[in-house]
Amino acid sequence: MDFDPPACVDLHIHTSASDGTYSPPEILKLALSLQLGAIAITDHDTLDGSREALAAGIPQEMGFITGVEISAERPSFFPGKGSCHILGYRVNLDDPNLNQTLERLQNARKDRNPRILERLQSLGFDLTMDEIHQAAGPKGQIGRPHFAQVMLSKGYVTSFNAAFDDYLATGKPAYVDKYRVACPRAIELIRAAGGIPVLAHPALLGTPDGRLEDSAVRALKDMGLIGIEAYYTEHTTAQQEHYLDLARKHGLLVTGGSDFHGKFKPRTELGRGRGTLQIPIDLYHALNNYA
Ligand code: AMP
Ligand code: ZN
Ligand code: FE
Ligand code: FE
Repeated sequence: MDFDPPACVDLHIHTSASDGTYSPPEILKLALSLQLGAIAITDHDTLDGSREALAAGIPQEMGFITGVEISAERPSFFPGKGSCHILGYRVNLDDPNLNQTLERLQNARKDRNPRILERLQSLGFDLTMDEIHQAAGPKGQIGRPHFAQVMLSKGYVTSFNAAFDDYLATGKPAYVDKYRVACPRAIELIRAAGGIPVLAHPALLGTPDGRLEDSAVRALKDMGLIGIEAYYTEHTTAQQEHYLDLARKHGLLVTGGSDFHGKFKPRTELGRGRGTLQIPIDLYHALNNYA
């Protein structure tokens, strides 16, 4: 099947408001040049990416919905060690409770960053918080990719991924855990803000083969989950089919996105993932029309 741009969307995008390298206006421009039919900006633990995009003005020919990606605790019914991220779509950007929780997550990151820095320094790396701040930019919220970027630019690692593999990934010497919101709370907050909670990249939960038990999906639905991100850059075709089956079986909405981070994930392209991702615009309409 040929790639038909206006019929395709990307509902999982990071900007410089978190750990993407393009600003929200730059993302709008890029999405327009790729003729994407609609996008959602889903920065980690902040609504600023969506806010800045709206302030810049959404091109008439493109659909847009607000978004966020919340770092949640992995519920104990999922075996494995991966991450549990909850996407929130169509949220009211001014919801006080959602904003308060996001602020708590942001503050937890601020507490964590100097601790990551200390660990890297004690491993012998000459790094300062100023350098990390510069990598994140004036509006950016610092994440591990910024540490990786600075380590790479100073020649301390041979690649961005090596910084994670050797130092920053879970369990590695410079890893520091961070506060996460309980999964049911993340779902509840998104709904209370008028939004649609969606389980992000289920394969990254780290269950065997990325498979989810029916009982686990039922438990998430009981928490108020509305959708599942079946289309995703790093999902295999078998995984995508599995999540589409689960969505049909359990009456969940389906979403999809590239998880574009710009230069921090250079192999992942906006809208197209590794080149073969195609996310039908119907999914955007279903999100938009969900009542
Ligand atoms: P943080 O929000 O600071 O915990 O960083 C999470 C971000 O780091 C993710 O969104 C990814 O972009 C990136 N990341 C996490 N693990 C890895 C890894 N093993 N290799 C490369 N990037 C990673
Ligand atoms: Zn990220
Ligand atoms: Fe994520
Ligand atoms: Fe993401």
